[in-house]
Amino acid sequence: MKINKNNEKPIQKYRFIIQSTFALLCIWIGIEFTIFVKSLESENANLVTYRPPGVEGFLPISSLMSLYYFILTGEIHYAHPAGFFIFLAILVVSFVAGKSFCSWLCPIGFLSEMIGDFGEQILKKLIKKRVKIPNIIDYPLRSLKYLLLGFFVYAIFFVMTVDALKSFLDSPYNLVADIKMYYFFARISKFSLTVIAILFVLSIFIRNFWCRYLCPYGALLGLISFLSPLKIKRDTNKCINCGLCSKVCPSFIKVDKIVTIRSDECSTCLNCVDACPVANTLEVKTKIIDKKIPKKIVAIIIVLVYIIITGIGILTGHWQNTISKEEYIILHKNIDKFGHPTSTRAIDELNKSSNIGVLNEK
Ligand code: SF4
Ligand code: SF4
Repeated sequence: MKINKNNEKPIQKYRFIIQSTFALLCIWIGIEFTIFVKSLESENANLVTYRPPGVEGFLPISSLMSLYYFILTGEIHYAHPAGFFIFLAILVVSFVAGKSFCSWLCPIGFLSEMIGDFGEQILKKLIKKRVKIPNIIDYPLRSLKYLLLGFFVYAIFFVMTVDALKSFLDSPYNLVADIKMYYFFARISKFSLTVIAILFVLSIFIRNFWCRYLCPYGALLGLISFLSPLKIKRDTNKCINCGLCSKVCPSFIKVDKIVTIRSDECSTCLNCVDACPVANTLEVKTKIIDKKIPKKIVAIIIVLVYIIITGIGILTGHWQNTISKEEYIILHKNIDKFGHPTSTRAIDELNKSSNIGVLNEK
């Protein structure tokens, strides 16, 4: 069997560059948004700074509701249009190239991976192997993220009418969801900090703890990935059963025992493809015509699809929301009054009591 390590250069360096770029972009957005929120505290519209729309990428529930609202009415809701397009871009990326958002673009996935790499170094020294939770515990734990996803899907798609959706999306709670998120972290409670610290420590010893067990976003993308035409396939005639592919898989998929990877846990990270020492044995192929897709093309597809869809949002004027600086000042001033509405009536009452009906006319 011909062993050819130089068949195709490893893609991991490029994946790291893309992940870092995206993480830096998110940090930049975070800094701009912090300055924006601080400027609202001045209560002077002339001093209010630019609000980066990209922050809406961190509002997945609101974006899911916006998407459903769009499906029902054909309208893109004015509150978080960038969130709508970012969410749509992530769904389409997953449809085209599997759960690749998690391992190529998501800043939480990137952080989780770095913590996991760090943990793996420690474990290698201590017990000389990776920790994999036994299947009997792993399977029930993995179902947690689906339960969370199921709850959101049920509450939005099966309970909410168009009117209820509109009321929620119009509600001041939704309009300031990004600012509330900022204060959640800026004034983090001891309880939340403890939960984050526990997740951090667990992620050191159990790779991708958050992504594997708790992230409902990842659960949704994992389900969509089953529809993706791109799949990693192993040529059993060429495979020498060295097991290197399984050894490097961060999702503990037994790549060396499968012909075509169909797993909701596969994040298209291509670590396995990079690790395979035999030329043309483990490859990304299209489901229909069984044609090899070079790793670089996969990377380009992931980034391009994301850029094109968010670019459509920008070019069609659905990026910046239409909430004025003056309105933001009023909303910010009353932010503590806006708790999470739990029913349509509560949403309507909140909308009326907030005294910012002008926003609801948009
Ligand atoms: S199967 Fe391959 S591409 Fe999928 S997660 Fe594992 S290493 Fe990454
Ligand atoms: S890395 Fe996996 S696919 Fe490649 S030869 Fe080894 S066992 Fe086979």
